[in-house]
Amino acid sequence: MFSSFLIKYAEIGIKGKNRYLFEDALIRQIKHAISKCEGSFKVSKTPGRIFLDAETEFDYDETVDKLTHVFGIWGVCPVVRLDIISPDELKKEVVKYFDAVYPDKNTTFKVFSRRSNKSYPLDSMELNADLGEALLEAYESEGLKVDVHDPKITLTVEVRDKIYIYSTIIPGPGGMPIGTNGKGMLLLSGGIDSPVAGYMIAKRGVMIEAVYFHAPPYTSERAKQKVIDLAKEISAYTGPINLNVVNFTDIQLYIYESCPHDELTIIMRRYMMRIAESIAEETGCQCLVTGESIGQVASQTTQSLTVTNEVCKMPVFRPLIAFDKEDIVNIAKKIDTYETSILPFEDCCTIFVAKHPVTKPNLGVIRKHEGSLSEKIDLMLYEAISGREIIRIE
Ligand code: ATP
Ligand code: MG
Repeated sequence: MFSSFLIKYAEIGIKGKNRYLFEDALIRQIKHAISKCEGSFKVSKTPGRIFLDAETEFDYDETVDKLTHVFGIWGVCPVVRLDIISPDELKKEVVKYFDAVYPDKNTTFKVFSRRSNKSYPLDSMELNADLGEALLEAYESEGLKVDVHDPKITLTVEVRDKIYIYSTIIPGPGGMPIGTNGKGMLLLSGGIDSPVAGYMIAKRGVMIEAVYFHAPPYTSERAKQKVIDLAKEISAYTGPINLNVVNFTDIQLYIYESCPHDELTIIMRRYMMRIAESIAEETGCQCLVTGESIGQVASQTTQSLTVTNEVCKMPVFRPLIAFDKEDIVNIAKKIDTYETSILPFEDCCTIFVAKHPVTKPNLGVIRKHEGSLSEKIDLMLYEAISGREIIRIE
C-alpha cells in the first residue's frame, strides 16, 4: 500500500551553506543505501524534508531496513501516494488508510493537512474538517475520538503534485550523513569495543577507513576473517570500508626479544599507533579512532593511554573512553556486531601478553627501551606498511 517515504532529519544547528552540504550528503547516502534494493526510486528535496517516491514495485521491508541504517535520518514515514482525486474520493482513501494502519479504533486522532497545490478545491482548514468528519463517521462507534491538543495519532495529508497520506514514523539512527565530517582511521580488532567505536564516530558523519594488525601464525586466519566480518557488519552503517591488514608478526617478535616483557603491550601499542597514523596520512584521514576505555585493561589506565598517545600527531578519538563495558555491549548488540565479536578467535596471542604488565608506564623508560630497537625497527615498519593487504569491504 505504501509507495513513498518521507525522510525526516534533525536540522538543528545546521544553517546556511552547511545545511545544503548536509542535505546533499544525506541524499547521496540514501541513494547509495537503496541502490541495491529491488525497484527504482525518485529522491526529491523540499525545505527541511526529503521524499523518496517508488517508481516501480519494490520490497518494503528491505527498503525500510536500508533507510534505517543511514546516519542523518531521524525518522522514516511510510507514505500512501495518490494521484490528485476529488475531496469525496480522498475521504474514502483516508478512511481506507486508517483502517489498514490501525486495527484498533479505540484511540484519539487529529487530521493535519497542508495544501501547497493551490488549485485543489479545499484549503487545509476545510480538509482537516472534512477528513476528520469522515473518519469519525466511519469509526466513532468503535471508540474513535478527536483530540486536537494531544492526539495519539496525527494523520497528515499533503496535497502537492500528488496527495501524500502518512501518520507513522519508524525511528532512524540519527547522527550526521557520512562524508560531512572528514575521514578517520579506525584501529579495528576482533573485540567488542573497536567496532562500536567505529560505528559511533561514523554516526557523526566521519567516513571510516580501518587497519587491523595481524600476527600469523600466532593469530589465525579465522581471527582475520572475524575482523573482515566485523568490518562488513559496520559497513551496513558506514558504507564501504578499505580494511588495511598489516602483518605485525616480525615487529611483535622483535619487541618481544628486545624489551622487558612487562612493557611489551605498551610498546606494541605505540608501534600500532605509529603505523596507523602513517597509513592514515597516506589515505587522507584526519584522525585515528580506537575502542579504548579508561581502566578496562592495563594498557588503558590513564597513564598507559598517555604514553600510547604520545607517539601520535593526529588527534586520537576514543568515543568509548568513559563507557562501562555493559553499555558498550548493549550498543554492540544493537548494531549486530556482538555475536561476531564474542567468537573465540583471539586477535592477540597470549605469548605476547605479560603476566604483570605495567599499569603506570614511565615515558622516559619506555623511550629508552624503544631506543634499543634502533634503525632495524624503522625498516620493519616500512615493510609492514608497504606490504599491507588492502581489502575493500562493501
Ligand atoms: P577491542 O574490544 O576493540 O579489541 P580491547 O578491550 O580488547 O578492545 P585492547 O586489545 O587493549 O582492548 O585494544 C585497544 C584498542 O586498540 C582496540 O579497541 C582497537 O582500537 C585497537 N587494537 C587492539 N588490537 C588491535 C589489532 N590487532 N588490530 C587493530 N587494532 C587493534
Ligand atoms: Mg581486543
